[in-house]
Amino acid sequence: MNLHEYQGKELLSKFGVNIQRGIVIENLSEVEEAGRKIAEMSDSNIFVVKAQIHAGGRGKGGGVKVAKNMDELISVCKKILGMQLITPQTGKEGKKVNKVLIAEDVYYPGKNEPDEFYMSVLLNRSNGQNMIMYSTEGGMDIEKVAEETPDLIFYENIDPMLGLQSFQARKIAFNLGLSGNAFKEMTKFVQSLYTAYIGIDASLFEINPVLKTSNDNIIAVDSKVTLDNNALFRHKDFEALRDLSEENPTEVEAKEVGLNYVDLDGNVGCMVNGAGLAMATMDLIKQAGGDPANFLDVGGTADASRVETAFRLILKDPNVKAILVNIFGGIVRCDRVAQGIVDAYLNMGDAIKVPIIVRLQGTNAKIAKDIIDNSGLNVLSAIEFQEAADKVQEALI
Ligand code: GDP
Ligand code: MN
Repeated sequence: MNLHEYQGKELLSKFGVNIQRGIVIENLSEVEEAGRKIAEMSDSNIFVVKAQIHAGGRGKGGGVKVAKNMDELISVCKKILGMQLITPQTGKEGKKVNKVLIAEDVYYPGKNEPDEFYMSVLLNRSNGQNMIMYSTEGGMDIEKVAEETPDLIFYENIDPMLGLQSFQARKIAFNLGLSGNAFKEMTKFVQSLYTAYIGIDASLFEINPVLKTSNDNIIAVDSKVTLDNNALFRHKDFEALRDLSEENPTEVEAKEVGLNYVDLDGNVGCMVNGAGLAMATMDLIKQAGGDPANFLDVGGTADASRVETAFRLILKDPNVKAILVNIFGGIVRCDRVAQGIVDAYLNMGDAIKVPIIVRLQGTNAKIAKDIIDNSGLNVLSAIEFQEAADKVQEALI
């Protein structure tokens, strides 16, 4: 589960990580009061307005803007709040900005050039340890740094049983070229960041930029936090941080009814039992020249009501031009699934306007095929996998 920048910063702050302070708002009527509070807190009338969406690259897309006084703050908020923000990570349709963070300006103009670093904490799957990845080249595209000057990115592996050792925190501060008070502040920053990562069961922190201010403070200017879904049961209060408007509505609905659904770009809807078979089905559709519109694992029970729910979910996608049902009847008998499909189809009336190709293999496959073939519906049956994929292709023409 992904968090917004402001939510991530709030959590970090609870663990003692220094952050760029700000107030999040949803309405233009809240701008002035938030601005006044920030001005008081930071002793400055310069603000930065930051669009809150689940995507990076907001700066480049025009979602982060500096405002030099209250009037500018109001006009910048007017522009950003409600806009459709397009960044390199949103896709071309962009994302609607429902909230903005009004933050203190931390780039003290006229003083020292600010030093921007990159820092992330993540799981290193290749050695089963946590890892802090960091670089002197923060602020801009870290992907570009990785590609062009990979030597400027450092890695520190952390044994989860031992935790982050203080020599490791010092090594990080040293490699970032810091000395004096900034060195000390960085070791504290890294330590509290790692404590927060463990404390909230995160799977990714990405703080870009981490800023060394002109008075040698180290602060998180941005935060990208991903929580480990498998650990959410330990943090019931995090449920409130979920922003459903950032998630695909069909995926949300599928989750509510216990179906495993992932939306994709193609035109062939898939209904499959078992994640492995679902992956294989998508491969076969591709090989036959088609393009899967979704991943859908209906799990073990494929009765009429479940099949109907799955059909309805698949058909929400206007790109779907055919549906391939590929079910292996092991514990669940094929004839029961076939009857489920027919019943669901009849129950849905004329909601189904696309051809359905059904491949049932396993227990009672033959009986199942007869049920489909005798149903008189726009449903084609197949026994072999390849045959099913070919029928899908024919249906698309
Ligand atoms: P991202 O583009 O989505 O990664 O959003 P960031 O939160 O990283 O902000 C983008 C850029 O805005 C940063 O790299 C900074 O250069 C700039 N920025 C962020 N906060 C401030 C600020 O307080 N003052 C000024 N002048 N620039 C800021
Ligand atoms: Mn950033």
